[in-house]
Amino acid sequence: MVWVERFTCDVCGKLRGDSESWWVAASECVPASTARNTQPALQLMPWDNLLAHSADSKHLCGAACVHTFLDRWMAGLRAGTEACSG
Ligand SMILES: [Zn+2]
Repeated sequence: MVWVERFTCDVCGKLRGDSESWWVAASECVPASTARNTQPALQLMPWDNLLAHSADSKHLCGAACVHTFLDRWMAGLRAGTEACSG
């Protein structure tokens, strides 16, 4: 039996084909100049299988889903459901 990796888009649920150029997004905490020590940041990178395996990574099939994901991430920050723990 062969292990087949399957990635689906975290926004639209589309299954990724082997040769498709997707994107990987990851939230992180970066130093802030305000009273808080860190603030959330979002990294967007071209598809990389190693990065895609990270539990924190989001898999995005294209620009439209990147935009949707960014909208949600920003809304999460505004609503306080997305924040830095560090
Ligand atoms: Zn998608």
